[in-house]
Amino acid sequence: MTGPLTRVQLDTGRCQGHGQCAMAAPDVFAFDEQGFAVLQIEDVPAALEVAVRTAVLRCPERAISLMPGDEPKTTTSHNSV
Ligand code: SF4
Repeated sequence: MTGPLTRVQLDTGRCQGHGQCAMAAPDVFAFDEQGFAVLQIEDVPAALEVAVRTAVLRCPERAISLMPGDEPKTTTSHNSV
């Protein structure tokens, strides 16, 4: 059972390659050959959310942003009011 995912976005124009993100959340951020961050995944599972939020806080360039991901597909049919 999974909740809504968190979507992570990386502004590569802001990234200065400090590497704080990859240290905080190595499952989500990696480095390209120039040492700038690249996303390994965009939809962050709940298990990695704390790590990703830590990365957001540590990024000195505020290059990482989070937004709600897709809702899990459900077929709830509740009576409309
Ligand atoms: S912490 Fe921020 S500036 Fe540093 S590599 Fe990660 S995204 Fe880029």
